[in-house]
Amino acid sequence: MTASTSLHPAAHSRPRTIGQWKRIPDFDARATSLSVKNEIRRNLLRAIERNDPLFPGVHGYEDSVIPQIVNALLSRHNFILLGLRGQAKSRILRGLIQLLDTEIPVIAGCEINDNPLQPICPSCRERVAAEGDNTPIAWLPRDQRYVEKLATPDVTIADIIGDVDPIRAARGGRDLSDELTIHYGLLPRANRGIFAINELPDLAGKIQVGLFNIMQEGDIQIKGYPLRLPLDVLLVFTANPEDYTARGKIITPLKDRIGAEIRTQYPGDTLSLVLFHDSAEEVPLNELARVQVGPYYTNTREGLRMARRILLRQRKDMRQIVMITDGKPSTLTLEDGRIYKNAFGLDPFVVGETLEEVNKCKRAGIMINTFMLATDYSLVHFVQKITEMCKGKAYFTTPYNLGQYLLMDYMQRKTKTIH
Ligand SMILES: [Zn+2]
Repeated sequence: MTASTSLHPAAHSRPRTIGQWKRIPDFDARATSLSVKNEIRRNLLRAIERNDPLFPGVHGYEDSVIPQIVNALLSRHNFILLGLRGQAKSRILRGLIQLLDTEIPVIAGCEINDNPLQPICPSCRERVAAEGDNTPIAWLPRDQRYVEKLATPDVTIADIIGDVDPIRAARGGRDLSDELTIHYGLLPRANRGIFAINELPDLAGKIQVGLFNIMQEGDIQIKGYPLRLPLDVLLVFTANPEDYTARGKIITPLKDRIGAEIRTQYPGDTLSLVLFHDSAEEVPLNELARVQVGPYYTNTREGLRMARRILLRQRKDMRQIVMITDGKPSTLTLEDGRIYKNAFGLDPFVVGETLEEVNKCKRAGIMINTFMLATDYSLVHFVQKITEMCKGKAYFTTPYNLGQYLLMDYMQRKTKTIH
């Protein structure tokens, strides 16, 4: 795909000043003032019209991930790709470069790629005021408009946003609060381009707050300076889905401002884990090995209910619950949140409510397969009943064998879908 623009003639005759640029025959001030999101949107629409391949070199995501990225870009959204390391996330993001104009004019020497017609940095504003149409311009190729950073806990606000440059201040004999002493971080340096942060959850909370600011207000403020810089960037992120959903890893307001979450993991297939005991909770998959339960009651109804809700939320065609249990249903969460318990025999109220939930799963097209870790007669009977109702399968096994089987299944799923 070639994104083209009529703004620049052949390389040898490129305008070198604002004045020369304005005098070229097809100069279009409006087109040069497009935001980067609008520029990408325009080029994407042209590429779709011409039937150009989108994201050449990225395979296996044509029907799942790429249409979602196209939607996000057409909606001018910042977005995040969720998937395991090594799932082509960075390569997909770098593919966005192809959707930028081949090159754009910037004020020569500007650290934040200022638009010659609308400079925002103090030094370019001074320069244009002094030199007017004689201000030199340069042509910035699109691969230099993509800035990428791997998040680690030691990344600082200064790295991302910027801070004062004391050397620059000393050299110029300037006061530290003078805006010409600013050292720009990676985000302002990505102005008029794409800023990609890999493994977003590894970024310290206060830097996430800084990113939230640019997404919410559209500008950044560098500590110690009154100036607000209205940056023009497309922000894209990657994360491991377990890190992204783990509590405390991403500040909620930032999450809310990311327009689209796109999963690259298990294309078309997801696996969630619900732990049930006195109540039930969703647990990140990477905590599977550390999970422990008991000695508790068994709130089978709540476990099934939570699993059903997760499945319905995912809107997948194939829905299945794999239930692993070693105890008969012995407790229920009541409407008002209280826990009703009865450990003796099979309580008809508990069983009735649990089977009602099984029915709801069945009506939602969810199959329930059960792994049972005990030979307790009343539990065997109960599991047989569920299996019959949902036309599922039941496996009666020992904890040792179960571990082995599950592990194999999980590995097969992974190796099958990673390619
Ligand atoms: Zn500038």
